[in-house]
Amino acid sequence: MRVLLSGGAGYIGVHTAIALLEAGHEVVVVDDMSNSSLEALVRAGEITGAGIPLLVSDIRDEARVRTFVSENAPLDAVIHFAGLKAVGESVADPLRYYDVNIGSAVAVLKLMAAESIPTVVFSSSATVYGQPERLPLVEDSPTGLDLPNPYGKTKRIVEEILADAAAAGPGVRAVALRYFNPVGAHPSGRVGEDPVGVPTNLMPYVARVAVGELERVGIFGDDYPTPDGTGLRDYIHVMDLAAGHVAALENARPGYEVFNLGTGVPISVRQLIAAFGRAARREIPSTVLPRRAGDVAASYCDPAKAWNRWGWRAERSIDDACADAWRWQSRNPQGYRTP
Ligand code: NAD
Ligand code: UDP
Repeated sequence: MRVLLSGGAGYIGVHTAIALLEAGHEVVVVDDMSNSSLEALVRAGEITGAGIPLLVSDIRDEARVRTFVSENAPLDAVIHFAGLKAVGESVADPLRYYDVNIGSAVAVLKLMAAESIPTVVFSSSATVYGQPERLPLVEDSPTGLDLPNPYGKTKRIVEEILADAAAAGPGVRAVALRYFNPVGAHPSGRVGEDPVGVPTNLMPYVARVAVGELERVGIFGDDYPTPDGTGLRDYIHVMDLAAGHVAALENARPGYEVFNLGTGVPISVRQLIAAFGRAARREIPSTVLPRRAGDVAASYCDPAKAWNRWGWRAERSIDDACADAWRWQSRNPQGYRTP
């Protein structure tokens, strides 16, 4: 298949590009580079030996994107990664989040209709489950718009838009992937997560502490009703996540479907810090801070649907993810800007 990756220069997009190319598919990328680096795609090209055509553009720029798509026709599918993902920023600037995240999904669906592209895979998030009533989370666990931030709401709204588009358009295949917590890096140590500024997510924060760029990890609450009192999450290695996208594309059916992409294994904040310490062979200093507003105590999935339908499941452990994240971080302490 030939696949357009919107936001394909970003963290998950570039790992998925590598997985697709290694599985024999072709990829083209549209990315406005607002949260990514050209170097990521250069390295993905070196790792795979493939050329990756790139258009630097907002995915909502219909004229430019259509010209690029025509030049690279025929395309079989779009994987829509492009969007804004900072939860706190979405609270401060909600209209920008609705504008970019919903506008870009609508632009992708219009592009697909105009260029006869049947399949779309969308980066949704476990955040759409809000406060879980029951764990593990399955695809028909309750979801709604009663979510603590606009970021999560944009994901939920786009899921509904995809379902409506698939219901209206015969032959449209739309798959929403609800990612749990993506972590880790490509095992080469050449491609990984490169957040701008101080990371807000746990794993990249711990990685910066391990490399000596930050002093200590703040643990957001140790009084949750969990075995060690810290929050439980389902951390999925980004290469397993990437393989999940390949499986989603290859098995997409007409209509709209939703899948959890996680491991099913709950890991606490303290367990993650300990695993990273083992990988980096050093003590990771930490301190307990108050709970972070909007956090849930625990979020992890039952990944059985993807296994039953596609034969896909996560194969890498939290130790594998920490080892790969450490290789990336220690070799590229300033990310892609490392001299
Ligand atoms: P990322 O920021 O690294 O990648 C997103 C890419 O989209 C970036 O390269 C950015 O430059 C680009 N982009 C943003 N707006 C654009 C626009 N209007 N037009 C074209 N390009 C644009 O983020 P990521 O971690 O790779 O996440 C990819 C997707 O997965 C996002 O939609 C995100 O919300 C979703 N997601 C991420 C996580 C996570 O923890 N990383 C979890 C759940 C869901
Ligand atoms: N967390 C933490 N310190 C940090 C960042 C995160 O203790 O500096 C905790 C957070 O409270 C949650 C878990 O780590 O329990 C994962 O948070 P992250 O922001 O990585 O992902 P989220 O699950 O919020 O999307």
